[in-house]
Amino acid sequence: MRKTAMTRNAITVKVGSVSIGHEHPVVVQSMTNTDTADIERTVEQVYQLAKAGSELVRITVNSEAAAAAVSTIRERLDALDCDVPLVGDFHFNGHKLLEKYPCCAQALAKYRINPGNVGRGSKRDPQFAQMIECAIRYDKPVRIGVNWGSLDQSVLARLMDENSRSSTPRDSVAVMHDAVITSALESAEKAIELGLAKDKILLSCKMSGVQDLISVYQDLASRCDFPLHLGLTEAGMGSKGIVSSTAALAVLLQQGIGDTIRISLTPEPGGDRCQEVVVAQEILQSMGIRSFTPAVISCPGCGRTTSDYFQQLAQDIQSFLRHKMPEWKTQYAGVENMKVAVMGCVVNGPGESKNANIGISLPGTGERPVAPVYIDGQKDVTLKGNDIAEQFQKIVEQYVTK
Ligand code: SF4
Repeated sequence: MRKTAMTRNAITVKVGSVSIGHEHPVVVQSMTNTDTADIERTVEQVYQLAKAGSELVRITVNSEAAAAAVSTIRERLDALDCDVPLVGDFHFNGHKLLEKYPCCAQALAKYRINPGNVGRGSKRDPQFAQMIECAIRYDKPVRIGVNWGSLDQSVLARLMDENSRSSTPRDSVAVMHDAVITSALESAEKAIELGLAKDKILLSCKMSGVQDLISVYQDLASRCDFPLHLGLTEAGMGSKGIVSSTAALAVLLQQGIGDTIRISLTPEPGGDRCQEVVVAQEILQSMGIRSFTPAVISCPGCGRTTSDYFQQLAQDIQSFLRHKMPEWKTQYAGVENMKVAVMGCVVNGPGESKNANIGISLPGTGERPVAPVYIDGQKDVTLKGNDIAEQFQKIVEQYVTK
């Protein structure tokens, strides 16, 4: 259940086995960056993303080869016992691909339709209708996903024109925000007119600026009850992407806005795609909205810290817990709520350790070379020697599996 200050009462939409909206947990999504036509690499990446905790995985379906590969990707994942729903990302030619490749249309659990990239001029409406008819035929939900970078220019031009003739014109940023929202809402209305059930529609209006995203989603949330997918598009690399996404999403999630989230990080060359899943989970967990992995509480270290040993221990324990969670969460109920404290000395170590399920204070400068360990608030053992990290890991494992 959600634990934010407010809950927006969105309708429930089912994507495969995943329920989205209303009081269902906020769902973590991710997207592959492999060529979908490359079945091996796509299966491997989807599998890794799902293992990291992605509850929906979007794949691009941009060509005939990609569309032809989708059902095989689904079968291979099923054979690996990976049932994560696949979402097809369509632009420009989605209407043709869904018609020509029924196996693809069937294997996908949801279609993402970008109203700005469905088609131009007189082709737009029939091509949009063709995609909606496929969704109805195969009983699939759609996400009408507007992106500021590919906004339907006809909607923007219309609203700009109306604004210029208004006796109380708004500034251009307000009109632009309205155009993004209007594109999503009018597309949803058209889909319903075409016969798609209301509980088959999710919306998103992605922006690349933090304040723009917050403003657009607050307005969008007040104007509809469709479940909303949140994401700061093109958030960027490294800490910039993480901080910007967190700043924007935290404000919205706290207001009960957002039913699924994706963190759109630009990975380092050769970097791990799963990082976006970890960041999404960290945002939800640190806000107390969901729990995924035991929390590791560690101090920043200071002049009292004798070496990098304790930072390494904190990192190792975090990796160990993440690695174990797929197995543990099926066997040990509530393990994801556990707290493990790793502290650099006894100044704050015992206090933090007592408040955690398990805590350790490593020896700081001038302290005896011993590491007291607390379990459930009580001092349990004092570790010594060169293998404190290994001993501590065993204690954590025993605590979970006892
Ligand atoms: Fe420094 Fe000790 Fe505080 Fe860590 S717990 S920041 S090592 S004083």
